[in-house]
Amino acid sequence: MTEPAENALLNALPDGVILIEGDEIVLANVAAGDLLGVPPPRQLERLVPTALVELVGQALEGHTAADVIRRGTPPRWIEVTARPLADVGSRVLLVLRDITELRKVEAMRSDFVADASHELKTPVASIQAVTETLLVAIEEDPVAAKRFAQQLHTTAGRLAQIVGDLLDLSRVESEQPVKMRDVDLEKLALKEVDRISDRAEVVGIDLKTDLTPVVVTASRKDLRLALRNLLENALQHTPAEGTVTVSTSRDGDSATIAVRDTGTGIPRRDVPRIFERFYRVDDARDRESGGTGLGLAIVRNAVDMHGGTVAVESELGRGSTFTIRLPID
Ligand code: ADP
Repeated sequence: MTEPAENALLNALPDGVILIEGDEIVLANVAAGDLLGVPPPRQLERLVPTALVELVGQALEGHTAADVIRRGTPPRWIEVTARPLADVGSRVLLVLRDITELRKVEAMRSDFVADASHELKTPVASIQAVTETLLVAIEEDPVAAKRFAQQLHTTAGRLAQIVGDLLDLSRVESEQPVKMRDVDLEKLALKEVDRISDRAEVVGIDLKTDLTPVVVTASRKDLRLALRNLLENALQHTPAEGTVTVSTSRDGDSATIAVRDTGTGIPRRDVPRIFERFYRVDDARDRESGGTGLGLAIVRNAVDMHGGTVAVESELGRGSTFTIRLPID
C-alpha cells in the first residue's frame, strides 16, 4: 500500500492509533488527536495524560497494558491499550477507544436490574408473609384462611404481570431479527378492539374505530403488543361514559395508528417521563390498579425497532391521544 493510502486508512479509523518508537511518537491518526483533545506531541515524555506514558513504559517491558482515562467536558471515557510490537523491542502501539456510550448502556442495564429487583421484591415479600399467616389460619380460622388464599392469588397474579411485562420488554429490546411481514394495521386494530369490546361494555366505555387499510412491513407480534398496551391504558384511565377511539391512516410515506381516549389525561410535567421504565404518574394509585409502569416502555421499544415513533398529546381531565407512526417502504 502507498503511504497516502495508508494514512487515509488510518485517519478513517474511529479508534485512535499512536505508534511509538523508543521515546518518540512516529505516527498518530486524526482520531488520536480528537480523543485526547490535542494532537499527540513528537516526544513521548510530553504525551498527556501521563498515565499513557506509564502504559507505554509497561509495554516496553514486553507486556500489554490497559487503562481507562477521562478526557474533556462533558467527560468522555477512553479505553487505552498499549501493545508491544513483536518485531522490534522498542516499538509500542497505543490504541484509544471511546467507550462513553458503552459505559452509559452498562449503567442503564445495572439500573434496570436494580429497579426490576425492587419491583419484584414487594410482591415476593407479601407472598412470603401471607403464606406464613395462611399456614397458621388453616388450622385455627378457616374463614380467614380463605381470605388469605385470595390475597395470595391476587399477589401472585401481580407478580406474573410484572414478569410477563419484563419478558415482553426484554424481547422488544433485544435486537435479534424479528419476523417481518406485511401487516395490515386495519385488521390488527379490528382484532384488538374485538378482544376488549366486552370489557369496555361492562365498564360503560364507548369503543369506536375510524380505520383505513394500510399495510406496513413489520413484526405483527410487536405491533400487536404495542397496540394492546395502548388500549389497556386507555381503558384503565377512562371512566364510564367515556370514549376510546382507535384509528389508522396513511400519511405520505408513513402509516399511523392512534388510540384516543376521553379519560383522565396526563399532567403536563409527567408527559416527558411516561415512556421511562417503571415510571407511574401516581405511584400508589397506578400500582394498586395493577400497573407495572412498563407498558409504555414496551410500546416505545417495539415502535423504535421498526424505525417508527410514538407521540402523545394529553390534556388533564380531557383525555389523551397516543400516535404510533411507522415508515412505509
Ligand atoms: P402501566 O403499565 O403501569 O400502565 P405505562 O408505562 O403504560 O405503565 O404508563 C405509565 C403511566 O402513564 C401510567 O402510570 C399512567 O399513569 C400514565 N398513562 C398511560 N396511559 C395513559 C392514558 N391513556 N391516560 C392517562 N394516563 C396514562
